[in-house]
Amino acid sequence: MKPVIALVGRPNVGKSTLFNRMTKSRDAIVADFAGLTRDRHYGNGRQGQHEYIVIDTGGFEPDAGSGIFREMAKQTRQAVAEADVVVFVVDVRGGLSAQDHDIANYLRRLGKPCVLAGNKAEGMQDSPHLAEFYELGLGEVHPVSAAHGQGVRSLVELALEPLALPEVDECEAGAEATVIRLAVAGRPNVGKSTLINTWLGEERLVAFDLPGTTRDAISVPFERNGQRFELIDTAGLRRKGKVFEAIEKFSVVKTLQAIESANVVLLLLDATQGVTDQDAHIAGYILESGRAVVIAVNKWDAVDDYQRQQLERSIESRLSFLKFAPLHFISAIKRQGIAPLWTSIAQAYKSANRKMPTPVLTRLLHEAVQFQTPKRAGGFRPKLRYAHQGGMNPPVIVIHGNSLEHVSDAYKRFLEGRFRKEFDLVGTPLRIEMKTSS
Ligand code: GDP
Ligand code: GDP
Repeated sequence: MKPVIALVGRPNVGKSTLFNRMTKSRDAIVADFAGLTRDRHYGNGRQGQHEYIVIDTGGFEPDAGSGIFREMAKQTRQAVAEADVVVFVVDVRGGLSAQDHDIANYLRRLGKPCVLAGNKAEGMQDSPHLAEFYELGLGEVHPVSAAHGQGVRSLVELALEPLALPEVDECEAGAEATVIRLAVAGRPNVGKSTLINTWLGEERLVAFDLPGTTRDAISVPFERNGQRFELIDTAGLRRKGKVFEAIEKFSVVKTLQAIESANVVLLLLDATQGVTDQDAHIAGYILESGRAVVIAVNKWDAVDDYQRQQLERSIESRLSFLKFAPLHFISAIKRQGIAPLWTSIAQAYKSANRKMPTPVLTRLLHEAVQFQTPKRAGGFRPKLRYAHQGGMNPPVIVIHGNSLEHVSDAYKRFLEGRFRKEFDLVGTPLRIEMKTSS
């Protein structure tokens, strides 16, 4: 199935010229006047290994009232409906227009992957005029010159990029492709070896061979409920035959290495001891590493109600910085509460690798601002314009706008909460970065 790219934009921005570039054909009509009637135009294109279909559309006004403009709007909507990705073409020489805003609003609501192309940009690559297009809330504008063939290749690359994502997502969700690297971290005696041996003794757990792992290394690949895991070198443990054994000395470096090489860290605490300084340190390393994390309080069988309450309170206060981590109460010895850990671990992994499309992030940002505007501070009112994903594992959301250094921490937490809810992010840190453009 070839991916379908639709070119959308108001009349005369250079869509047909771009269409010709992308299809290297002379099929489309290029004319020097606005509003020339045109049906949807289909063309085949190829870039490297990738073949695609491009649809050129006439000029588009989402709210076109009647006549020819209305017909063009209808054609464009149909083209957009058929497309996998939309390239929204604007004219960087003509500048931003009200119509551009209308089109952007329409596209944002659709939630389809959308790339913003700033055409007629020959000689304007570094022009400050490009920045005003951020206002459309569709992310960065990509300068191209359809007439001169500049930037078209990278535009196509960019347009096709998100289309590879669903496949990757499917692989990631599937058992075969992904192995979740898991480290169990905790100070000596919290019950790491007991828990791991409990796991490995479970019938539902199936060992498999992972290329590159040796028998001696503390690395155990196994499968559970169709999901593959690799238990990686967990600090402070030694493998003795089929079981794990704790070694006396706690090593910070080993712990750090284990955390660094994991996708998800299970932080194990000892209910009988409460949250100690050493626990808090390990928790701090995990936070710094940006890894996904699940907390399990072990030896739940050995404490009474009063101790449990105390413990919950001390987790809340001393580990408040890991509030995003799911919390489990377990007994490794009695095999209680063990199964739900797997769900949380898989969920944390998924959250850490979540893809967050720019249009969705920007829509959420605008909704959040509408719900509650950031407070004025020192004579400045921060203006939050658009957001895009700056990284994964841990997910980073970059917010662009003005006077963002005046956004309060409380407001950032408010935003974080809304993003977390929308993308169902649990067990992973979420970093929010503010980029003030002037
Ligand atoms: P459409 O109505 O959006 O399909 O726009 P066209 O492709 O018909 O182009 C409209 C006008 O813009 C034509 O006169 C093109 O020659 C001109 N044009 C298209 N691309 C560029 C470009 O990259 N730079 C400049 N300077 N002009 C362009
Ligand atoms: P490690 O140093 O973190 O690997 O801890 P171990 O697995 O060696 O456990 C330390 C001690 O805690 C051992 O005496 C275990 O029997 C005990 N222990 C482990 N899990 C539990 C549990 O769930 N409940 C209770 N009551 N004791 C546990």
